[in-house]
Amino acid sequence: MTANGPPLILPGKMIGIIGGGQLGRMLILAAARLGYRSCVLCPDPGAPAVQVATQHVAGDYTDVEAITAFTDCIEVATYEFENIPAETVAQIARTKPIAPAVKALEVAQDRLIEKQFIQNLGIEVAPFQDIASLPDLKQALETIGAPGIIKTRRFGYDGKGQRAVKPDQSIEDIWADFDGIPAIYEGFVDFACEISVMVVRDHSGHTVTYPPGINEHRNHILYRTTVPAKIDATTADVAATAAQKVAEALSYVGTLGVEMFVRADGSLVVNEIAPRVHNSGHWTLEGAQTDQFENHIRAITGLPLGDTRLLGPTQMMNLIGEDVCSLDAYLSDPSATLHLYGKDEPRAGRKMGHVTRRLKWPQA
Ligand code: AMP
Repeated sequence: MTANGPPLILPGKMIGIIGGGQLGRMLILAAARLGYRSCVLCPDPGAPAVQVATQHVAGDYTDVEAITAFTDCIEVATYEFENIPAETVAQIARTKPIAPAVKALEVAQDRLIEKQFIQNLGIEVAPFQDIASLPDLKQALETIGAPGIIKTRRFGYDGKGQRAVKPDQSIEDIWADFDGIPAIYEGFVDFACEISVMVVRDHSGHTVTYPPGINEHRNHILYRTTVPAKIDATTADVAATAAQKVAEALSYVGTLGVEMFVRADGSLVVNEIAPRVHNSGHWTLEGAQTDQFENHIRAITGLPLGDTRLLGPTQMMNLIGEDVCSLDAYLSDPSATLHLYGKDEPRAGRKMGHVTRRLKWPQA
């Protein structure tokens, strides 16, 4: 047992990962460095995480028998994506520890609950309103104004399930896409840049944060993260404190991503949280003393958290779709480290891998 009660799961034991994507793959690689074995629950036998796992339980995330088989072979479970049914987490939690706990999922799965939760912590979010009908949307437009964005409450990622609303735009057509789907209307935040903070919290409530990175998107997908973010030190401190506050309020265990907008005056607006390791934290693999994946594994197993110190300016670039075909350019660049996820088809918009580059100091 650790000082605060949760079981210390020692290297050699089996860690359960729900989800077979690249985040699971990188969690498994980090776990393997620490001597852990991994079992993945996901339907696809060729998934990126399955390729590097010790064991695979093939099944859907609602398949009670598969979940039981998975739970039987692990000492602790975690997840690599947030759209897992809460009942699945609850089923696992009845017999094995699972981290982060279900509350983090429930908050992150629903944009309305997420916004209310963050606002209740005294942290600024974009003005928002729950909308279930066209009259609701009209009312939200009167209160909040345009421009703004309609977002589905659930299952949104990489800009999916969103539509911008411009001033004086006819909203009937836009609403037709959302009719019958729970959604929120959000006022547009006039931001100077987007940052994210990765925070890691252990069972005893000790937290560590990574320095914020600046995120740039293309076609609603993260294109690049650069660290350190060119924001003033006070803003960086406020961002870290906000991320810690969210982790604390969720009694969170593991790595949590908190995405924020930074206005020109340095004020911050939290956009969303991800209860897992996050794409904007991939730079930590080469740019930090301990990466986000290893720290997640340390947190959930009860090992002490690792140092999050920045080793030097670092940039992470996603390889999306056909980007992955320029392998020579990345392999011949001495400052680049290439990570490929083992996906076969470079479809448009598909994250195939990423490249991390250590930049010169001071940052160009
Ligand atoms: P999300 O799915 O909430 O992460 O949104 C995807 C992207 O849309 C963000 O990274 C922003 O670039 C943009 N965006 C989302 N919400 C807002 C907002 N309220 N104001 C301005 N831009 C936004």
